[in-house]
Amino acid sequence: MEKPLSLIGLDKPALNTALVAAGVPDKAAKMRVSQLWNWIYVHGAKDFAAMTTEDGTRKWLLRTGAGIEFETVYIPEADRGTLCVSSQVGCTLTCRFCHTGTQKLVRNLTPAEILGQVLIAKDALEDWPSTAPGRKVTNVVMMGMGEPLYNFDNVKAALAIVMDGDALALSKRRVTLSTAGVVPMIARAGSEIGSSLAISLHAVTDEIRDQIVPINKKYPIAELIEACRTYPGASNARRITFEYVMLKGVNDSIADARALVKLVAGIPAKINLIPFNAWPGAPYECSDWSQIEKFAEIVNKAGYASPVRTPRGRDIMAACGQLKSESVKQRASERMAELQSAELARMPH
Ligand code: SAH
Repeated sequence: MEKPLSLIGLDKPALNTALVAAGVPDKAAKMRVSQLWNWIYVHGAKDFAAMTTEDGTRKWLLRTGAGIEFETVYIPEADRGTLCVSSQVGCTLTCRFCHTGTQKLVRNLTPAEILGQVLIAKDALEDWPSTAPGRKVTNVVMMGMGEPLYNFDNVKAALAIVMDGDALALSKRRVTLSTAGVVPMIARAGSEIGSSLAISLHAVTDEIRDQIVPINKKYPIAELIEACRTYPGASNARRITFEYVMLKGVNDSIADARALVKLVAGIPAKINLIPFNAWPGAPYECSDWSQIEKFAEIVNKAGYASPVRTPRGRDIMAACGQLKSESVKQRASERMAELQSAELARMPH
């Protein structure tokens, strides 16, 4: 008879071997070992179910049909809870640092599927009624999989209900649509959807942006910035967020930082510097922390608060924009879930 393997007392290499034997991909095993280590010996967790991510980040994989899988992530912070919502299964944009960009577009999500992400998260978080004080989902960002402005009508329909005072009742300041720069749709987004706007800028020259955000070849930086200048509803109280992912040696020089503040000068703007969240096979590395700090200092001195977004949910592969339901990694995380409940227990000594 095979007894379940006890993890207690195994050293790290032995844990690694056990995980790999149970189907955890080699590449992920090291990270899983350190998570187990932390949960068992720092937090005293006694079963896998107790090992939820420490920072409270939660992720849901939803499936509404064969191959129609999409993810939603909840990120709690001290003063708010942000739900990161997907607009498409897959994506057409092929941004080079983005994992979703390696997947083909499967299809647009329907209004029900977009809204459903919010409803399911609220269910799981027991976050009803929507009007209750202290509610958990206080912000919605369209920063999951897909390009929301390529699914305009459905995103518009869903967000209208998210922002309806008699429905989910989030104010338009708390709902943000993030775009890689579908310039012709930006004005319409402002007048017809009316949410806050975030722009995935990521580079300050067309030469670099053409490479990392290929939609730039169609709508170059100057046109994108012009669309931001005229975005309906932008004001100092409602700033446009410029997202800037820090890629080592690609877009993170001091000169880039200076050019960035020049580029957005005159626009009511926030700048979010995002440490690159690497994925297996990614062609980039995250900038060194010291370089991010230098970059941030220039941005700060120019008058932008520029919080460097702390990576959240890395341990559950849930960084916004890194969401994916593509089979390989998905199977891996499903395997991990299975592993958590069963596989290890069945392993022979
Ligand atoms: N298509 C939309 C929304 C999805 S991406 C857009 O491009 O804005 C949401 C954000 O996550 C974008 O700023 C995107 O550039 C960023 N992102 C994608 N992959 C990332 C990664 N690996 N590390 C850090 N940020 C990433």
